[in-house]
Amino acid sequence: MPYKFTFDLSKVPRFFFTEIARVSYRKGMHKTFLKNLQDIITKFRIQEATGLNLSDAVVLLQDLIDLQAVNLLERGKFMQAKKRALFLPHCSRKYMDNRCKAFFDASIPSYTCAHCSKDCLVNKADRLAKKKGYDVYVLPGASCIPKILKMGRYEGVVGVACGEEIKLSGEILSDTDIAGQAIPLIKNGCANTAFNMDTLVKTL
Ligand code: SF4
Ligand code: SF4
Repeated sequence: MPYKFTFDLSKVPRFFFTEIARVSYRKGMHKTFLKNLQDIITKFRIQEATGLNLSDAVVLLQDLIDLQAVNLLERGKFMQAKKRALFLPHCSRKYMDNRCKAFFDASIPSYTCAHCSKDCLVNKADRLAKKKGYDVYVLPGASCIPKILKMGRYEGVVGVACGEEIKLSGEILSDTDIAGQAIPLIKNGCANTAFNMDTLVKTL
């Protein structure tokens, strides 16, 4: 399920994400956590950069921090995982129409990238992950995940999606012994979305 608002953090300074990681690490130690969120929103001019109102910006930031905190908790177990999969969102394909030459397997359901466009984020991520031994799925939504997990017997998964979809995926993984790592979209909207390739490289 998408957020009720759209955002684009692609022009926000990289230091913003370092700050998110720092606050995630210290989360729980602060009684003034909400105040911290508001300070970060002001410091990085998130409302000006995204056009979000304060409460939506707080929701977004809270989700980014929560998922980063879970990433930190799961990292050790994930590093031990031998059989891994990468889940990419279909909305990050360069094209959402028939110019995308990906093969759609309705029985999974998942797309398999056909590498038609060099500058497509999904193409780049797919090539990178496969080189590292990952199985790659390009998913229309988190509801496809249980079937894939059942078929693949994975020990670790990396999921790229907007915060709302990552929350759904987290609920699915919490019923399993699989270690998860999440990478949030930095631009949502269900088409032409974006994630950070450097973050993906580090996570894989
Ligand atoms: S590179 Fe892959 S995912 Fe991107 S548009 Fe082409 S087939 Fe689709
Ligand atoms: S932004 Fe992408 S990952 Fe999030 S709900 Fe829309 S299609 Fe799914």
